Amino acid sequence: MEKNKVVVFWFRRDLRLEDNAGLSRALATGLPVLPVFIFDENILQQLEDKFDRRVDYIHQALDGINNKLKGVGATLNIFYGSPLTIYQTLYEQYNIQEIYCNRDYEPKAIQRDRAIFDFFKTVGIPFKAVKDQVIFDKNELLKNDGTPYTVYTPYARKWREKLTPEDYQSKNYKTGLFFQQAYLPIIALEKIGFKKTDLSFEPPKLSAAIIDSYDKYRDYPALAATTNLGIALRFGTISIRQCVAFARQHNELWLSELIWREFFMQILYHFPNVVSESFKKKYDSIQWRNNETEFERWCQGRTGYPLVDAGMRQLNKTGYMHNRVRMVAASFLCKHLLIDWRWGEAYFAQKLNDYDLSANNGNWQWAAGSGCDAAPYFRVFNPTIQAEKFDKKHEYSQQWIPELGTSDYPEPIIAHALARDRALKTYAAALK
Ligand code: FAD
Repeated sequence: MEKNKVVVFWFRRDLRLEDNAGLSRALATGLPVLPVFIFDENILQQLEDKFDRRVDYIHQALDGINNKLKGVGATLNIFYGSPLTIYQTLYEQYNIQEIYCNRDYEPKAIQRDRAIFDFFKTVGIPFKAVKDQVIFDKNELLKNDGTPYTVYTPYARKWREKLTPEDYQSKNYKTGLFFQQAYLPIIALEKIGFKKTDLSFEPPKLSAAIIDSYDKYRDYPALAATTNLGIALRFGTISIRQCVAFARQHNELWLSELIWREFFMQILYHFPNVVSESFKKKYDSIQWRNNETEFERWCQGRTGYPLVDAGMRQLNKTGYMHNRVRMVAASFLCKHLLIDWRWGEAYFAQKLNDYDLSANNGNWQWAAGSGCDAAPYFRVFNPTIQAEKFDKKHEYSQQWIPELGTSDYPEPIIAHALARDRALKTYAAALK
């Protein structure tokens, strides 16, 4: 039987049909596009907790895409396994002309894509990765001497200077046809080893009410004053171009946050060693205390510092933690408890719905002082003063710590002054 001639589009962290650069390019070829998603066993098998909201989120987002494709006589081809093996099978089944996907900048993803690129190269089929999840990628934004930026402020300045409306113009497809196929319902979560969670997929929305006053209220964790779009940006259920266009009209400070996201992505791309090492090498000589009992108390939100504890409990219960509180909780772990930032980073990676390797690593290293453009190590957040400033009426702390103010709530795990002094001495010894 003659094989069907198709162009493949591979969804990864771009789970939307609208304003999807790679998909538009695939459809523009004029050939029928076979939409594919692979639940990668290499990634999923590493997730210990099978009650994972991220997997559930992906699953629900895919279901939405599949339903839309059904409306145009197509279906999403969903697989579970190792991408290379699956592509070898697809190659047998279809007369594949080209493969399109959007670029991923994480070291393991680059490795995976390289193997698939190499396979298709041997059989003469182009594998094309397109820029989609950022405005500027790879070497598009470098210092005048051709090296990558390692400090945010000049990076952000250049980013803004370089930005033109074309950079954030939507990449909606004008023409194109999906491969016509009988609708295949999406594989059950249980079939890939996961369970349904309490997460319910909401199509991401840009709220003018929140973004217009972002600069005024974003630091107050008791208010719903940030967008909560982290997970949507992580899995691409919203496009960065749409966000940037909105930010330009509504709030420059919110745009700065989107630039932070891109800043850490380019750091990871140019310096993949940050995954396991401190960006500033000297910080790898810090003599961490790494006390396991104290780490456990931090994880459970029982340090006796309400802002830290409320944050950790919010994280454990919902998979989300407010940014101001993430900064305080991370600093507390590294500086007050002298626990290696990698422990905290790994815990956040397990729990955060919006977990993203580049942002998590970049921000943890920022908190520990070891990162590019990190705060100087001797600036140690005082969690009590932070709470007085940003949770004055204890609304946030009380929301997450019902026993606050009773004898059930623990005494501080260590006095701030003592911890600060100890941290400064330990850091100074490593950095001399
Ligand atoms: P908003 O405040 O509405 O911001 C909009 C978007 O901008 C975010 O969704 C995010 O994509 C981006 N953004 C905002 N702040 C940052 C930042 N500092 N660095 C990079 N991108 C940013 N963000 C993640 O997306 N994934 C992570 O794994 C992550 N881990 C973090 C760990 C620590 C220790 C700290 C201090 C921060 C971390 N952040 C991470 C950054 C930030 O806390 C979250 O992006 C933000 O709280 C998400 O809430 P929001 O969607 O309401 O963001």
